[in-house]
Amino acid sequence: MSGKTEFKKLPTHSRPINYNLTLTPNLLDFTFKGQQVVTVEIIEPTNSLVLNSAELEIETAKFNDAEAEISFNEPEETVKLSFNSALPVGRGQLSLSFSGALNNRMKGFYRTVYTDSSTGAEVRCAVTQFAPTDARRCLPCWDEPELKATFDVTMLVDKDLIALSNMPEQSRSDISSGLVSVKFQQSPIMSTYLLAFAVGRFDYVEDFDSDNVLLRVYTPAGRREQGRFALDVARKTLPFYKDFFSVAYPLPKLDLVAVPDLAFGAMENWGLVTYRETALLVDTDNSSAATKERVALIVGHELAHQWFGNLVTMQWWTHLWLNEGFASWIQYLCVDQCYPEFDIWTRFVKSDLSRALVLDALDSSHPIEVPIGSPCEIDEIFDAISYCKGASVIRMLHEWLGQEAFRDGLSRYLDRHKYSNAQTEQLWKALEEASGQPVDFVMGTWTKQMGYPLISVSAKPADNDDGQQLELSISQERFQFGSNSSLAAWRVPIQVLTAEGVKINLLLTEKSAAVRVPKAAWVKLNPGFVGVYRTLYSEEMLTDLIAALQRGQLSQRDRFNLESDLFALFSAGRLSIVQLLQVVDAYKVEQFYTVWADLLDNLAATIQVLVDQLGLSQQWRSFVCQLCEPAFQRCGGWDAQPGDGHDVALLRAALIRALGLAGHPSVVAEARARFARHCSGECAIPADLRDSIYRTMLSNGGGPEFEAALDLMDKTDLQEEKDRIQRSLGSSRDPQLRQRVFQLVVSGDKVRLQDSIYVLGSVSSASLESRRATWRFIKCNWAWFQEKLRGQILLSRLVQQVCKNFCSSEDAEDIETFFQANPLPSAERNIKQALENARLNARVLAREGRNLENFLAKFDA
Ligand SMILES: [Zn+2]
Repeated sequence: MSGKTEFKKLPTHSRPINYNLTLTPNLLDFTFKGQQVVTVEIIEPTNSLVLNSAELEIETAKFNDAEAEISFNEPEETVKLSFNSALPVGRGQLSLSFSGALNNRMKGFYRTVYTDSSTGAEVRCAVTQFAPTDARRCLPCWDEPELKATFDVTMLVDKDLIALSNMPEQSRSDISSGLVSVKFQQSPIMSTYLLAFAVGRFDYVEDFDSDNVLLRVYTPAGRREQGRFALDVARKTLPFYKDFFSVAYPLPKLDLVAVPDLAFGAMENWGLVTYRETALLVDTDNSSAATKERVALIVGHELAHQWFGNLVTMQWWTHLWLNEGFASWIQYLCVDQCYPEFDIWTRFVKSDLSRALVLDALDSSHPIEVPIGSPCEIDEIFDAISYCKGASVIRMLHEWLGQEAFRDGLSRYLDRHKYSNAQTEQLWKALEEASGQPVDFVMGTWTKQMGYPLISVSAKPADNDDGQQLELSISQERFQFGSNSSLAAWRVPIQVLTAEGVKINLLLTEKSAAVRVPKAAWVKLNPGFVGVYRTLYSEEMLTDLIAALQRGQLSQRDRFNLESDLFALFSAGRLSIVQLLQVVDAYKVEQFYTVWADLLDNLAATIQVLVDQLGLSQQWRSFVCQLCEPAFQRCGGWDAQPGDGHDVALLRAALIRALGLAGHPSVVAEARARFARHCSGECAIPADLRDSIYRTMLSNGGGPEFEAALDLMDKTDLQEEKDRIQRSLGSSRDPQLRQRVFQLVVSGDKVRLQDSIYVLGSVSSASLESRRATWRFIKCNWAWFQEKLRGQILLSRLVQQVCKNFCSSEDAEDIETFFQANPLPSAERNIKQALENARLNARVLAREGRNLENFLAKFDA
């Protein structure tokens, strides 16, 4: 495809009421047959019906008794059924028989295969991924979210297989030749992208929630115990949402299924949620604390969609952000309630808010709400703006309105639009009614324009006052890494916190404002890092805040906020490298995981890319070692101490990883000893430390460590462990081993296609040399990637993973030239973002390279 196809919605003269669908999948030759009778409402007389259909053969089509002439429009993925005379207004029955292939591309109705670890046998399954626009690859249908209908599904499958759909089984009957006909209850009215099936061999664990909803977690055969944790999350989550939304879970059952191959992390199909194994399965001995967190969040996310998305659905893909942003926010609220020990809101600030702020400071970002035409544009908006910025503006809104008004507005919205569709403004309206606040007036500035503000603040003693008050001057402009020519302004709920704990709220609606606060040792904007903005303090205010930080007076999220903002200000040219690295030094006193994790990530993404370009990696490693060592000592060393919480386990692992990658001699030696005992079976490395130790060994070792890691990968059936190993292979510094990683990706026998892009991403992030080697590999094998990932969201993810972090205009030009010759419409924006990043990095290097060199000179290699 050389350009974006112009896009038309389906004609509006007909709409579906009910699909009565029978499917017969054949797992031997990976095909399926389908038959359906669709009850159709003809709204205006018409001689033809147009439905979506792709990669299907339609054998017969009849409306009532009239035979249809069938013609496909492949680029538009539609089929036109033409009749000799006009179909009368009112309801009629459209009967279709059709067939298709169970493809291997993770979309539509597709195959997925795993190995039963107890027997070694290959197990073949068929599952569905219909979102956003692939139901049409399984059944001819009106494949738009607004065209909701009910579904009566029957599946004809082998007797010994499990067949699942959105609704519980209603009846089953034997039919000839070992097949059984499984009929499911009728679904509520819903969008086609939420319809789902799964057929294969699975084990499961089950429980009931407090409302007697039957919950099951399906796992590959022989691994049911790995479903226990997710089951526990689901059992706690459903009642939480019922209470929060004031609407009970609408279906009689909920299945969560681990699927070996899935393009997304998970998919919220109503009543039949599918997950990558790593997003659902937890092994008591071999899963890390980070995995538990991730599973809890993703289960919480998909279950939130059962209401927000499934019960009330976006009208069109332009409003995708509302589904995703909302679920990405409330998953934290839910996990915070169910697992308070995770301190999950601090994780939010890192995983969502920071990511959004970084992406949205680029010229090539986009507004939260974007007009969406063709399906290939939809893929691109499943990005950090829809999910992470969406979630962040909702968090800010929730804080501004307060929990009660927010909840009240939300239940009004759900009640008003249930079993139907809605758009963003309708949520604002309900929240406005509940809160009495000008929600639409404020939120429009956040969803309809891209970017976010930089809030500049300075303080002076207030006039006409006896010195007891400070006057803060506050002003806004758009924050951008590049040159700032934007006149955009936002309506910003701002909170100010003083050392004495006084909190003052204001709504900034103009370019600037003044506000008085009681005089204090320090004053901070954006406490808790709830506001979606960066803050630029006057020099005096910043000095006071750094002092407060060192005295331990700032909360964890505030320390995070300060550090995160300063890195961004550095990238935008508003802070020098020397100032930045002085602040980084002040963080040596830090002892919380998330702050450290963000600091280390920022150092890697902002400074290490410059260091690589300058060839100062050795000095950089010495700098990292002296930075991290004190905090590592305070963790009490390698082994978990009695009373260590969740956070310490994560912090210890993060510091060992940083020190190991930096080649800290005693850390590398200890990692080597533990790795050897782990490989020989003498003493397993605790799951929390494995990633750190594997990466340390791969980056400081050679062929033997590489072989040992592959051997570990062969021995495990836990995908989390396979992922961990695959992503550590890229740390290797030996060019020949790097080539081995590339070969693993294309051979496909150890690395699943869905994981390959992250494996390549891990190679690319290891060093400049690795980055360039990965990019060369992609260029040479482009035809292979295009063939394997055709039409998939993974192709734009590949560009994202591999093209990030370049730091010169030559590299940018090379990427640009390549994609001019090999256009990739579904990743246009990702490509622009990668180019912009590379050029911005080059600019920072030109500005600060010499200073960085001087700074690092004191850290001898
Ligand atoms: Zn989602």
